[in-house]
Amino acid sequence: MLYDLHTHSHCSDGKLSPEELVALAKENKVDVLALTDHDTIEGIPAAQVAAGDELTIIPGIEVSSLWGGRNIHIVGLNIDIDSPELQQAVLAQSDIRLARAKKIAERLEKAGIANAWEGAQTYAKGSAIGRPHFAQHMVDEGYVDNFAQAFKRYLGTGKVGDVKSLWPSVTTVVQWINAAGGIATLAHPDKYGLTRTKLYSLLEEFTAAGGKAIEVVSGQQTLAVTQKLHRAAIDFSLLASCGSDFHSPDNRWQSPGIMSPLPKKCQAIWDFW
Ligand code: AMP
Ligand code: MN
Ligand code: MN
Ligand code: MN
Repeated sequence: MLYDLHTHSHCSDGKLSPEELVALAKENKVDVLALTDHDTIEGIPAAQVAAGDELTIIPGIEVSSLWGGRNIHIVGLNIDIDSPELQQAVLAQSDIRLARAKKIAERLEKAGIANAWEGAQTYAKGSAIGRPHFAQHMVDEGYVDNFAQAFKRYLGTGKVGDVKSLWPSVTTVVQWINAAGGIATLAHPDKYGLTRTKLYSLLEEFTAAGGKAIEVVSGQQTLAVTQKLHRAAIDFSLLASCGSDFHSPDNRWQSPGIMSPLPKKCQAIWDFW
């Protein structure tokens, strides 16, 4: 069975519609796919319809939170999308995203990027607006050569367009996911630039709040990273998840179902389902 438990559609910062994502996942022979858009569950019903009998959709979400001044992502898997607590949370996150985007736009305009607000809106098209939509504007208007440069110069950690003080705590987000009957999963733990000590103190708080799983594999990572995260899963008795974090077919490193294998000895999250 091929599992991909972390993917995006154009309901947040992905390129494909939920239907196109599902079609590509089927092409890649994925058996179980979680759609985990940033702070929205809007695409789930369409993905479920498109999946039919060929593919199982796990309803998911990737929620933005703040811990130790860092933007930490918590994936909720197998959530009940009709849960009132979750729907409330999604509304709150949507307000934060909008307020944040306005601040990002103001700051970018001050830094010399013209029409940042209008530009980002054009790309977001009413979906969960985020930094990649600003990055797209900057690329298309020639301010930067590519996304990586946009993040390095303007949007990444500590840069002018990095507005994160608005997000809820890790504990709050884990509680939302649990209230919706989901499994709270720490997303791509190697992407935060944390030392082992910091990662372990994040995991202390995450597990104390009721977090149950960790992405031992995120995309095509090195074996050393996989081993480090497998160790962390054991140390905190966490279930192991894996996902491509697919956003766009333009990125040739990402595709649904394409990732390093989960170590055989892992306690996989699907054994729990
Ligand atoms: P936001 O949801 O607005 O906080 O934006 C975060 C998203 O930006 C992530 O989910 C990625 O899709 C994207 N992203 C973050 N860092 C980079 C980077 N260095 N290069 C390209 N995209 C990035
Ligand atoms: Mn993203
Ligand atoms: Mn993420
Ligand atoms: Mn993601």
